Amino acid sequence: MVPLFDIKAQHQAIEPDLRAAFVRVLQSGHFILGPEVQEFERQIAEFVGVRHAIGVSSGTDAILLALMTLDVGAGDEVICPAFTFFATAGCVARVGAKPVFIDSCPVCFNLDVRQLEAHITSRTKAIIPVHLFGQTAEIDAVVEIARRYGLPVIEDAAQALGADHHGRKAGSMGTFGAFSFFPTKNLGGFGDGGMLVTHNDGLAERARSLRTHGAKEKYYHESVGANFRLDAMQAALLGVKLRYYAKYTDRRRANAAYYTEKLSALPGVRRARLEDSVCNGAGRSTSPRSPEKVPGEDERLILPVAYAHNSHIWNQYTVRVVGQGRRDALKRYLADKGIGSEVYYPVPLHRQKCFLPAHASAPTLPNCETLSAECLSLPIYPELSRQQLDDVVNGVAAFLEKPADVAVQV
Ligand SMILES: *Cc1c(COP(=O)(O)O)cnc(C)c1O
Repeated sequence: MVPLFDIKAQHQAIEPDLRAAFVRVLQSGHFILGPEVQEFERQIAEFVGVRHAIGVSSGTDAILLALMTLDVGAGDEVICPAFTFFATAGCVARVGAKPVFIDSCPVCFNLDVRQLEAHITSRTKAIIPVHLFGQTAEIDAVVEIARRYGLPVIEDAAQALGADHHGRKAGSMGTFGAFSFFPTKNLGGFGDGGMLVTHNDGLAERARSLRTHGAKEKYYHESVGANFRLDAMQAALLGVKLRYYAKYTDRRRANAAYYTEKLSALPGVRRARLEDSVCNGAGRSTSPRSPEKVPGEDERLILPVAYAHNSHIWNQYTVRVVGQGRRDALKRYLADKGIGSEVYYPVPLHRQKCFLPAHASAPTLPNCETLSAECLSLPIYPELSRQQLDDVVNGVAAFLEKPADVAVQV
């Protein structure tokens, strides 16, 4: 059996530490914000390399709070990728603004920076790049364009705590960075939790106030905020896990390297090609990029890569399964063998019912469509044993040996 995640295994190994933190908070009687949250905020700020970290109720609320702090609202537009988790764009709609979707890079899965400028209008109020699956987007280029237009950048770093880009940490390069401690994120909590980070003193102060109903002084409200507070219990327990975070990340990297080594040796499997990337600085030549869809006849599986200038934290190990219906067939085939896998994300956001324009058609974002049809994430969590990794590799190998039409019917 290889589950997609195994949260219990991670916690068993550190249970005495977790129990001690639990008892400390229990006996303190202080359950919301307070010294435990302040200490955890200090640790995250130091780890990410920012001046301010603001503990919040979830990753979603971190993004929402950033938008509220920036006064994004009705009539405004916010540019973000369509191939991401719903919250990225859901928060934009929640404040009354309109998400404007752009396409993604077929190699790193992150937003296509080349399309950014063409989508900026007089209504644009912010840009939300997402560091998907644990690898940073081309954030330097995003920030450079944003600076020219005077636009703030909110990094959705929910999947990328500790990932870096030219040596700088995800979340530290934009105006704001938003993190999530949802249990399946690399730093997984014991319920919902999140963190908003920024270098900017004024924005941090405003965000802290909006986190508690827009009141700096209790019962005196300068603006309308909400309850976005982080619990002391979450902070204390997450603080324990943060001590082991480097080890968890090393294990994820080792697992990814093992998959890539073993899977790339199989027939029909190759690593994503840098020349197919739309990102600058990915090692792509300046010649026109090769068309996305002229795979060799035998091409069946494309493995993920990390760009040389990025340090990937592998929140997901996401392969592309080429061929109509093949991705879902592989998922079912693995499930029959007791191996978990998941489709992140089956419907790109520009095709979600809630975002479909009333009288217009959805924009055409061909790479997002392809990724939504082909992506499959394999188990990558730190506690996987060598045997479990081999089970996954062998499961994929057995599937690939079957003729394509047979496999689809499994
Ligand atoms: C998980 C996630 C979020 C939201 O985080 P929650 O803590 O679940 O609210 C936002 N964006 C992305 C890309 C995510 O993966």
